Amino acid sequence: MLLARKGYKVLLLDRASFPSDMPLSTHYLHQTGSARLQRWGLLDKLAASNCPPITTDYFDYGAFTLTGSPPPADGVQVAFAPRRKVLDGILVEAAVAAGVELREGFSAQELIWENGRVSGICGRDKSGSTVREQARITIGADGMHSFVAAAVKAPEYNNRPALEGAYFTYWSGVPMQGWHLWLRPNRVIFSYNTNDNVCLIGAAYSIQDFPAVRADVERQYLAMITEQVPELAERMRAGRREERFVGGAVPNYMRKPFGPGWALVGDAGFQKDPCTASGITDAFRCAEWLTDAIDDGFSGRRPLDQALAGYEQQRNQALTPYYELTCQLATLAPPPPELQQVLFALQDNPQQRTRFFGVLAHTVPVEDFFAPDNLRSILATTTKSAATS
Ligand SMILES: Cc1cc2nc3c(=O)[nH]c(=O)nc-3n(C[C@H](O)[C@H](O)[C@H](O)COP(=O)(O)OP(=O)(O)OC[C@H]3O[C@@H](n4cnc5c(N)ncnc54)[C@H](O)[C@@H]3O)c2cc1C
Repeated sequence: MLLARKGYKVLLLDRASFPSDMPLSTHYLHQTGSARLQRWGLLDKLAASNCPPITTDYFDYGAFTLTGSPPPADGVQVAFAPRRKVLDGILVEAAVAAGVELREGFSAQELIWENGRVSGICGRDKSGSTVREQARITIGADGMHSFVAAAVKAPEYNNRPALEGAYFTYWSGVPMQGWHLWLRPNRVIFSYNTNDNVCLIGAAYSIQDFPAVRADVERQYLAMITEQVPELAERMRAGRREERFVGGAVPNYMRKPFGPGWALVGDAGFQKDPCTASGITDAFRCAEWLTDAIDDGFSGRRPLDQALAGYEQQRNQALTPYYELTCQLATLAPPPPELQQVLFALQDNPQQRTRFFGVLAHTVPVEDFFAPDNLRSILATTTKSAATS
């Protein structure tokens, strides 16, 4: 969509047909993701899809709960959790409206190479016929099992294995306000409302406990919620499960996202644990950066290779601290004692609490909030108010 809006001829191949759900993924979209949709003129469409806006975060640590909202992203205060069939439908429709040629039911199978450079793609269309297409650049936006990334042998770095695993499903009759996390040692329960008047409720487990959960999903899921958050379990007993359980565990990696004639975007180039619910938001940001880099290269403002190297640099600079934080949180280990004190102190510090929620929403840089001086100032305020109260 973004490339077509800049006037480029774009062929979009997907083996799915739209509207298509993405079964494995939950779908929280942070304020920063909503802001991208706003910039692209698509946020109103999402809001009109009967997807409730989310403005408040509730992080329950057992002994206390932090409640608040992150600072807005480019003036956008709302997050959403649209079903992927809704979000992907809006994006695909906008791409076609921008002039993209969409071929659904098309499975990309091989890259075409000319003199060491990717010059197009070969695959099977809906009717089963083999089709070859030439392109100046072939972009793998084909998810975590990216065939393009595998075919070009894109080098991986900063890899971590899967660190947690989760199962989720959808409930009616259990209305939720905002984004809820119930954080317990080695466990997290998460929930928010989505389209069609249902809410998603998920349960995440540290990776060492996950095989036992896989063996008996429904019983383990209900037992964990009953044990850890009995009041939620009671509300769920009054509601109804509407869909089957879905879940899994995914590895963490960054990949070199470009080479001669090819580029990667979204999970194809960069994947992190879903515990920070940020894959879609990051895919949006990377799509903008990649579009600008290709446009710089194709229009001659910079050599293409240099522009694409800039895309990798921009991605890594902006997203590595969040990636590292995500990998740390994904262990589901209790926070170290000093961080526990900071979290506790945030209860009485609305300004810093807002910034804390902004870290997850990508509106406050990770490195700013967790800077030792900032953490010290949060702790100092508590000590002061404790001394004066
Ligand atoms: C359990 C779980 C929970 C998650 N929860 C969240 C969350 O709450 N919020 C969030 O932001 N992110 C979440 N994520 C991450 C999010 O799902 C991904 O970051 C996001 O889907 C990446 O989008 P993408 O377009 O790169 O890839 P995908 O959404 O995987 O799309 C890839 C597309 O490529 C197509 N394709 C693949 N191979 C081929 C081929 N050979 N030929 C043709 N087409 C092909 C597929 O049909 C698909 O349409 C979660 C992930 C998991 C696993």
